[in-house]
Amino acid sequence: MRDTFRFGLKVPDSDWFWKYNLNYEEAIEKLKYMGVDFVMCHNHHLPGIDTAVPGEVPKEMQYKMDAFDEMAFRNALWEADIAYIGQAGFGFDEKLMEQFGNYPVNQHGKRMEKTDWYIGACPTCDEYVDARVDMVEEAMKEFDMDGIFVGFMRYPGFWELWLPGTDGEAWSEYCFCERCLEKFEQFSGIHVPVSEELVPGLWIRTHAREKWTEFKCQVIYEIVSKYRTVVKKYNPDGKIILNTVPFDIGHFGNYGKRIWGQDPELLKDIVDVFEVMGYH
Ligand SMILES: [Zn+2]
Repeated sequence: MRDTFRFGLKVPDSDWFWKYNLNYEEAIEKLKYMGVDFVMCHNHHLPGIDTAVPGEVPKEMQYKMDAFDEMAFRNALWEADIAYIGQAGFGFDEKLMEQFGNYPVNQHGKRMEKTDWYIGACPTCDEYVDARVDMVEEAMKEFDMDGIFVGFMRYPGFWELWLPGTDGEAWSEYCFCERCLEKFEQFSGIHVPVSEELVPGLWIRTHAREKWTEFKCQVIYEIVSKYRTVVKKYNPDGKIILNTVPFDIGHFGNYGKRIWGQDPELLKDIVDVFEVMGYH
């Protein structure tokens, strides 16, 4: 059965194939030995984004990847009762960000800069959202995947830098771009005053923080819903696995919702598996 979801493996690149020369059967034998029952991997519809783990295949090794047959690999996994989950990261697709200009803005009105390998995407840009969801649709159409893993599905923020003693109030919060402000006004009915001395992000955090947090959580919820709809359209049993920030209320108060807009209580009806980033 491919629906147990006990032990999964995130596979950000294909070096097991081009570098370590495993064929499908050898790779699957190792997965079975470890007790893996689902793998989360990329395919040509859902290419990897270079993060801390670069996904690029060196040019001189590309000839090996040319021999890699994604469908044959999926079939081999299925024969071994291992679920095939597509890795569908939401943010950050820099090519699309360049196209749509959805760079996030913090509470001080400052545009986000890239930190190391990371830059977030403003999540209220419909064109960006649709383009990312379309990629999942194409992958579902071709591979009838058992589900998707949605990475970086949150408001921008390099949470790995949140160390003991970090002041959550001084942390850069996103996104206060013009579109986000407009959508917040529509959502809440709250008018954000405009004046030269006033920074909208600071005003909102002082006067409408709870409503603002609710809005952010709703934005994330709606995008996850879009992903879910497209998965279910092709596979009614398809699962949604959400990459989740490890900000439990006991240790981090409301910052999981306030900064990243992830509300597990709200999301639990549309998310099948919360993959909590309990690593550092
Ligand atoms: Zn925005």
